[in-house]
Amino acid sequence: MKLGKYSIGVGDRFTLQGKAQLSAIMKANKKGLNITPVWNKSNREHNYVGTSPDDTRKEADEAVKALNYEGIYFVDADHINMDTVSKYVETSDFFTLDVASFIGKETSKEHVESFVESCKKYIGQLQIPGIEYPINITKKLLQEIAGKFLVASQQASEIYAYLKKEKGEGYFITEVSMDEVESPQTPVELLFILKMLADKGVPAQTIAPKFTGRFNKGVDYSGDLEQFAKEFEEDILVIDFAVKEFGLPDDLKLSIHSGSDKFSIYPIMSEIIAKHDKGLHVKTAGTTWLEEVIGLAVAGGDGLTIAKKIYKNSYIRREELCAPYADVVDIDPADLPSVEEVNGWSSDKFANTLRHIPDHPDYNPNFRQLIHVAYSVAAQMGDEYTDLLIKHADLIGSFVEENIYERHLKKLFSIWL
Ligand SMILES: [Zn+2]
Repeated sequence: MKLGKYSIGVGDRFTLQGKAQLSAIMKANKKGLNITPVWNKSNREHNYVGTSPDDTRKEADEAVKALNYEGIYFVDADHINMDTVSKYVETSDFFTLDVASFIGKETSKEHVESFVESCKKYIGQLQIPGIEYPINITKKLLQEIAGKFLVASQQASEIYAYLKKEKGEGYFITEVSMDEVESPQTPVELLFILKMLADKGVPAQTIAPKFTGRFNKGVDYSGDLEQFAKEFEEDILVIDFAVKEFGLPDDLKLSIHSGSDKFSIYPIMSEIIAKHDKGLHVKTAGTTWLEEVIGLAVAGGDGLTIAKKIYKNSYIRREELCAPYADVVDIDPADLPSVEEVNGWSSDKFANTLRHIPDHPDYNPNFRQLIHVAYSVAAQMGDEYTDLLIKHADLIGSFVEENIYERHLKKLFSIWL
């Protein structure tokens, strides 16, 4: 199974925006691109919202049918592990094997030494084509990398083996993710992680490392843009080398998690993938739920009322809601408007504060991040929330589509669109 050169992870918390998302992708594809839609939803999201993997499959199939989309598409079991994978087997054909929690787990000395031995020919000055300076590979560096990543790669191979047995080889896309950790993986670490995956027979087609800088939820990238560009380009060159050297699938590409709204790095990635003629997968699912809240606010009346209620509950439960996202939110509570203040806002004021237009005078990234992590607040409202999504479906759908097309695809594929 091939994912295609360019692919976008969409998907959404309440599984109602599939058509609007697909319509944005089809708009880009009409202009000559060929972006594969992937509906992804993590186990955590399913748990918070109370949906099942089957709902995501239904959302995707229905959108494809309704819009007569004829290309390939996938349903991604996002961030699954050995404990959670089984319930996704039937409905998913893309699996993101999350092995981040196994990074740094201790392995035996023999395993480390045998890995180092297998890398003997790389010790010294390793020249990766395209990277300006050779990388100095020492035995000590290899030992460190093995110590850090061998158990994680073993875990990936166990999940992969399970899926291969359940679904059959070649019937699903394999992604390996290591992004939900504190410290980024360097390009040289990525190189030997890929060797481990190849050694253990994991045919990864996408890999999600943790990059330098902060990928906060729903807001722009925060970090050193030059450093990011350097690392991103080196990762791409390392992947190219690893594919040839270790015999990994030739369509292996980077996957950017928490990839929505990272406007300042989109042109950088766009330029680098064009320069090297490489593909990319970007996961943007989280941004869509914010468009639902914006749409409700703009709808006014019952919509604006519930948008304000969502903020009120998010504000009260801030610490609890942010806790699971500690590495990916950066909220200054002093910059959050009070509930009282927000209750006095107009539709426009609410929408402009939340909508991701960075230079709009009302835009508040603190407000936006808080609502981003608060989808469980809406989930707990049950039908009260989803009924309004259905009532205002046209307006919300137009915002979802505009957000994906204008603010995401157009910037991500700025070279082509
Ligand atoms: Zn992720």
